[in-house]
Amino acid sequence: MISEAEKVQGTPQQKKTHCEHEGECMKLVQLIVDGQATEEQMAQFKNNMAKCLPCENGYELEKCIKDAMQLRIEKKCVPTSLIDCIKKKISGL
Ligand SMILES: [Zn+2]
Repeated sequence: MISEAEKVQGTPQQKKTHCEHEGECMKLVQLIVDGQATEEQMAQFKNNMAKCLPCENGYELEKCIKDAMQLRIEKKCVPTSLIDCIKKKISGL
């Protein structure tokens, strides 16, 4: 027999699949990947990302794109793994 308290504890925390403050989150993502975010903004976004699936995906996508762009600017080869990562993220949105 399982008590109510145990049931609640045993349930893994589900992330939100819809972000009600997406505009705000994506603004933070831009600042972070550009290295312009303050510590406060970073903390704020990390807090969001822990609960919010679209924010996490958005952040990873932006980071991948940023990496790929940086390599192109440096006239280096963009690794296939990075391209795959971006494709996967886009199709997962
Ligand atoms: Zn969010």
